[in-house]
Amino acid sequence: MALDHAGNVEELYELQDELGSGQFSTVRRCLERSSGTYFAAKFIKIRRKKGSRLGLDRKVACQEVDILQQLRHPHIMKLHDLFVCQLQMVLVLELVQGGELFDSVAEKESLSEPQASDFLIQILDALAYMHSLNIAHFDLKPEIIMLQQKDIKPNIKITGFEMAQSIEKNTCLQKRCGVPEYIAPEVIKLEPLSVVADMWSVGVITYVLLSGISPFQGETESETINNVTKGIFKYEDTHFSSTSAIAKDFINQLLVINPKERMTSAQALLHPWIKPLTIKQERNRDSCLINMDNFRRFNVERKKKQSYHMIASCNNLCKMSLFCVHTKENEDLRACESDQEDSPVPPASLLRRRRSSYS
Ligand code: ATP
Repeated sequence: MALDHAGNVEELYELQDELGSGQFSTVRRCLERSSGTYFAAKFIKIRRKKGSRLGLDRKVACQEVDILQQLRHPHIMKLHDLFVCQLQMVLVLELVQGGELFDSVAEKESLSEPQASDFLIQILDALAYMHSLNIAHFDLKPEIIMLQQKDIKPNIKITGFEMAQSIEKNTCLQKRCGVPEYIAPEVIKLEPLSVVADMWSVGVITYVLLSGISPFQGETESETINNVTKGIFKYEDTHFSSTSAIAKDFINQLLVINPKERMTSAQALLHPWIKPLTIKQERNRDSCLINMDNFRRFNVERKKKQSYHMIASCNNLCKMSLFCVHTKENEDLRACESDQEDSPVPPASLLRRRRSSYS
């Protein structure tokens, strides 16, 4: 990654169509003029003042950049370039074009356990690499497991590093983050964390992938949180009739409340469901199939929830913007000034930064 030449984003990249957007970001396809290579430019709006909700805290954005700069792995989305100005950051990222893994699985007629475990090998490989660097993702869920390309041998790319952190002794999160359905009990309880928090999420993702059922999902968020903290789950025959015993053992070793007793990423890569040791284990796994009817239903519901969250966060942002414009002249609500939109910053003012000079 060459971050040491002065330049501006539009001089170096031709900005093209929008690929998607997040709460504080817009992602656009871009073409690097010098190499003719396509990337994804993620424009992150940085908040002006502490307390403003119209933008991401600079420290949080820098944390994501810091983490991405440390990671170089075939199954982790790469940061290629970086541009920074006072109110915006542009992360030029490896272009990931195959969509979400779960969407691609839902389009299949059938999926065998060995095919599912091939996906898990790639995910575990990326996690074992991150964990060896003492970096935890903290937000593993189906939405961030993407595919490099559609229609060729699936090549997984882990994305969504907004919550990733370098783990130091006694790392605790200030507030709960991630989706309750997928996060570990120690994350919910704001206890000291280690990289194995990610392994709980791998357990939930595997359970869902094999059965189309979410192990801890309740009717409400607080019910889900309660289910996760109790850590009780079961394999109902109706949903797991075609699941191998060895796959269930893999999940059982991940969905363990005590993080110290939970399987690590390195251990998971050696589990017989991932790497069968005997012909019996291999046969046991090879004859088992994913419950596709359930899985497709789960995926439809998941997409509905995703759209609902997107609409809800757009509505919140709109409400906040309107509120701030309407009360602009109200002295009592001066505090909202930091939420007002800043005059647009032309991308030309975004300067490419050295690795250590963006904060
Ligand atoms: P939020 O920040 O609200 O949690 P998010 O994490 O999905 O949302 P972004 O990382 O900004 O936000 O991504 C927004 C969308 O842009 C993604 O859902 C995806 O469709 C697209 N996208 C992000 N990164 C890439 C990439 N490297 N290649 C292709 N598309 C991308």
